[in-house]
Amino acid sequence: MTSLPAAALHAINADLHCHSTVSDGWLEPEALVLRALGNGVELLALTDHDEVGGIDAAARVAAAHGLRFVPGVEISVSFAGETVHIVGLGIDHRHPALSAGLAQVREGRDARAVRMSESLERVGIRDALAGARRFARNPALLSRAHFARHLVASGVMPDVRTVFDHYLVRGKPGFVDHQWATLEQAVGWIRAAGGIAVVAHPARYRLSAADLARLFDRFVAAGGEAVEVVSGAHTEDEMRRFATVARQRGLLASRASDFHGEKESAVDLGRCNPLPPDLEPVWSRLL
Ligand code: AMP
Ligand code: MN
Ligand code: MN
Ligand code: MN
Repeated sequence: MTSLPAAALHAINADLHCHSTVSDGWLEPEALVLRALGNGVELLALTDHDEVGGIDAAARVAAAHGLRFVPGVEISVSFAGETVHIVGLGIDHRHPALSAGLAQVREGRDARAVRMSESLERVGIRDALAGARRFARNPALLSRAHFARHLVASGVMPDVRTVFDHYLVRGKPGFVDHQWATLEQAVGWIRAAGGIAVVAHPARYRLSAADLARLFDRFVAAGGEAVEVVSGAHTEDEMRRFATVARQRGLLASRASDFHGEKESAVDLGRCNPLPPDLEPVWSRLL
């Protein structure tokens, strides 16, 4: 808890969600921190998918440059037939319950990648698994983003977004169903590790209004405390919509670029809009 006045708290350039090469970002943790510094970020969380392997390196570089750093993670969750992402902020990234949970979530990724590759093979795309692996610096964390990059590099599609639209989302030939963690597990692991659970980019889920309300009900019941109101994946309308959700449910608000790399991200590190001034920034609990 900080005793900073609200205006000073809001003025901090916080970016609490981004990715390194430990998951599907383009920059090594060290380079990511340096880019954040160059962009004027004052409080940074590294939140790789289902992995905390970049935290120590990022924290070291951040400390060397006087940048306040928050250890984080973005956990994949299955909810109502959709994949939902829960960010954990301020975690003890060595906590055994969290480590075991993340190891379990990662374990399924290889088998999923094999099935994705087989399914792409059936529509004439050969050797996608080997291709995707060439883009994954961390062999334990093969993401759909790595498949997308391979399909772009091999000339199948012009850009990553188009690959997703044609191949990697539900109903398309390269998509396979997968069981991730439950919402309660993800929030439970984050809390066990002393962290704050955050619903990541809530506007991006293809959930009915009723299912989205149930997501927040269960999230809050499990001890979740925050929502990404400002996200690189949100339009301004979506930001306003989830500002209302934060107010109605008394949730802390997060601000996050979800930066993956220069070529793939709409918003660069530290370049998000400010939070609406009446919301309580989640970083009031992280300083
Ligand atoms: P995975 O966790 O392997 O299912 O991969 C999810 C990742 O794919 C996300 O974190 C994004 O980096 C990327 N992704 C998902 N949907 C899209 C999309 N429509 N366009 C570009 N990248 C996407
Ligand atoms: Mn990603
Ligand atoms: Mn995400
Ligand atoms: Mn993300």
